[in-house]
Amino acid sequence: MSYDTQPKASHFIDGAYVEDTSGTPIPVIYPATGKQIALVHAATPAIIDQALAAAHRAQKQWAAMSGTERGRILRRAADIMRERNHDLSVLETHDTGKPYQETIAVDATSGADAFEYFGGLAGSLTGEHIQLGENWVYTRREPLGVCVGIGAWNYPTQIACWKGAPALACGNSMVFKPSEMTPLCALKVAEILYEAGLPAGIYNVVQGLGEVGASLVTDPRVAKVSLTGSVPTGKKVYAAAAAQMKHVTMELGGKSPLVIFDDADLENAVGGAILGNFYSSGQVCSNGTRVFVQRGIKEAFLKRLTERLSTAVIGDPLDEATNFGPMVSEKQMNIVLDYIKKGEKEGARLVTGGKRLDRDGFYLQPTVFADVTDDMIIAREEIFGPVMAVLDFDTEEEAITRANATEFGLSAGVFTRDLSRAHRVIAQLEAGSCFINSYNDAPVEAPFGGTKMSGVGRENSKAAINHYSELKSVFVRMGDVEAPF
Ligand code: NAD
Repeated sequence: MSYDTQPKASHFIDGAYVEDTSGTPIPVIYPATGKQIALVHAATPAIIDQALAAAHRAQKQWAAMSGTERGRILRRAADIMRERNHDLSVLETHDTGKPYQETIAVDATSGADAFEYFGGLAGSLTGEHIQLGENWVYTRREPLGVCVGIGAWNYPTQIACWKGAPALACGNSMVFKPSEMTPLCALKVAEILYEAGLPAGIYNVVQGLGEVGASLVTDPRVAKVSLTGSVPTGKKVYAAAAAQMKHVTMELGGKSPLVIFDDADLENAVGGAILGNFYSSGQVCSNGTRVFVQRGIKEAFLKRLTERLSTAVIGDPLDEATNFGPMVSEKQMNIVLDYIKKGEKEGARLVTGGKRLDRDGFYLQPTVFADVTDDMIIAREEIFGPVMAVLDFDTEEEAITRANATEFGLSAGVFTRDLSRAHRVIAQLEAGSCFINSYNDAPVEAPFGGTKMSGVGRENSKAAINHYSELKSVFVRMGDVEAPF
């Protein structure tokens, strides 16, 4: 392989690469071949301490800079990321297996968007003035301190940036732990931030499995934890953070409904369902994996969906023509294969796909089940792979009730030409990130996050500022103090 995927060292702390080979080895496997392409080591307690000490030491000085100065550094990082989009995308493809056709369009670019957007906002973060007769209150928007970011493996560059950008804009420092499945990309994000002028210690990356994440969460120097991961991990991290009353953002899993009415534009609805189920080989938290299709359009929908899926170009993710890549790991592939077996066993109709491809790497076929019922496991649990469940429905009320009958609440989508119905239905769906006649758009300007078990807090947009800062209110009395005695 000509591309050098081995990082200079496992961790990036206090503005420099740091190694400690006594930590647990973490081999990095290229999902398209199953071969090892790099090796990093999990952070030892000494490395974790080094990262937190650096973040703690540097934060106050960073917070004392003006927002405009902080923002300038973030915007410079955004420019560097865009200039290096090709290299960063090739690395993201090696880390995750996602096709270059995707990574060149959405990964480093959405990371750069976050640095640009929050860099732009940094200078305008203010408190307010509240006049109370001759007295007054002013509020100061203050950073939280040291923030910990913990990432999932599906969007390693994006997650490192979506957490880092608002945290840094608000004057916090960060220690970021990527997923052990995809440890490479966050190191590049750290490198670029320092090249852009970030002071040492403000954005640090340490590697490790769950236990490294757990030690970061419980360290008393940490004020806030932002996790992107599964619901079971979210419960553990939220509970550990609560024990010390830390702030949290929880971006967790989903089993989101996509409701397609008879009057929808068929091509657009099929396109939305494809985007909401097969992008990144289905490894997207907000995917609309329960596709409720009104009975009148069902067969036409399935026919067109199958036709379009048959044109998917599955293969070498580095080939620009490939638009469907492997699963991130053998383990995740087997989890998904297991769900496919359960779907067949429970009597769902396999319309297309369902098999592993006979080639190196962790490739599955895009898979569609029809005649799925609400009680089936494939309609209830997050599969996190390319498996779409199509469920029939008759009335609007029925679709809403059934769509909401889940513990998750990350996303929801509606396809219909009747815009009053679209708004009426979306208003009743219990989800944080919703779509009308579209699916899975995630612009940095819009809040992103879930309700119910899918999470707490919001990433992106001005809303993220509230999750990385807090208000101090200061009462100022202009006259004498009147005390009762
Ligand atoms: P995961 O929960 O297994 O791991 C997520 C991260 O948490 C990893 O870095 C892991 O090392 C760490 N971790 C595990 N146990 C921990 C503990 N006890 N304390 C601290 N950290 C711990 O999730 P995954 O398999 O990497 O990712 C897939 C999941 O992430 C899916 O459920 C998906 O829906 C979700 N996800 C959500 C979003 C979102 O924005 N809502 C985005 C992407 C992925």
